[in-house]
Amino acid sequence: DVCVLGSFMKDLVASAERRPLPGETLHGTGFAEFLGGKGVNQAIAAARMGARTAIVGTIGEDRYGEEFLELLESDGVDTAWVVRHPSLGTGVGLPLVLPDGGNSIIIVSRANAAITADDVEAAAGVLTASKVLSVQLELPVEASHAALRLASTADVTTILTPAPVGPVDPTLASYVDILVPNEVEAAALTGLNCDDESQVPAIARKLAEEWDLRGCVVTLGSRGAYVLDRARDFEERVEAHRVATVDTVGAGDAFCGSLAASLAGGAELIDAVRLANAAGALSTTVNGAADSAPDRATAVALLDG
Ligand code: ADP
Repeated sequence: DVCVLGSFMKDLVASAERRPLPGETLHGTGFAEFLGGKGVNQAIAAARMGARTAIVGTIGEDRYGEEFLELLESDGVDTAWVVRHPSLGTGVGLPLVLPDGGNSIIIVSRANAAITADDVEAAAGVLTASKVLSVQLELPVEASHAALRLASTADVTTILTPAPVGPVDPTLASYVDILVPNEVEAAALTGLNCDDESQVPAIARKLAEEWDLRGCVVTLGSRGAYVLDRARDFEERVEAHRVATVDTVGAGDAFCGSLAASLAGGAELIDAVRLANAAGALSTTVNGAADSAPDRATAVALLDG
């Protein structure tokens, strides 16, 4: 079983030929809405990869909140520990996408920012009964701290996606078993330069030692992933799958959700990474965030070629 603590973000995406100037109103060329937020993306991905999954987080008493509950429940995710904030609305993201694929994004956390350690403690039962807890850094640090601490008192494997990246409290770091940064995050956390992929193994080793990790998995986008399994004294570079990529938003979350599901099912870290590498690749072949996660059969089929 997987428990995810994380954010809910409704994305309202506008496309335009360029960014508006100060004070300007600009006609856009397109619009789309998606359900996202790292917490939701990872929970949907874990559920589609076959894990019994629960999500802990905070939404508003509004239409977007309803949309999230509908999507999560249609994928079988347990939403019993989702708190509905009485006054703050559901979190929103407002990306502006330019013709070259570049973007500018405003996010407003709203209800996500109101989650408390008490909200997390209320979910202690489901959290400590899980095999794997997955956490990111989009929620207030007290909430992540409470969840990781609870997990550390039980036999729960903890996964941290350190995004958005920033300084991490050493106590929080000490609760993490498996760290899953992308290249940018790995470089920021170590202060090492990651321009050249040959540095990834050294960065992963440094993180594994400093954080006393069981494993460190650095995701490398269209180049795959690097896995260091410290418990097994094993390292490997896993090549990416060649797929028809249309939108890489949520790839890291599809990867992490899949990783959590496999580990909850008792897989070795390297096998969990191989399947997550397929799940991450497949998520880039579909537009959107949470809803772009593949199901297990499709990921297994890609992996088995
Ligand atoms: P993030 O979305 O957090 O920046 P990455 O871009 O590293 O994370 O992507 C996460 C994983 O998704 C990668 O490790 C890889 O397995 C898969 N992936 C991402 N982009 C591609 C791509 N263009 N082709 C194939 N696989 C991809």
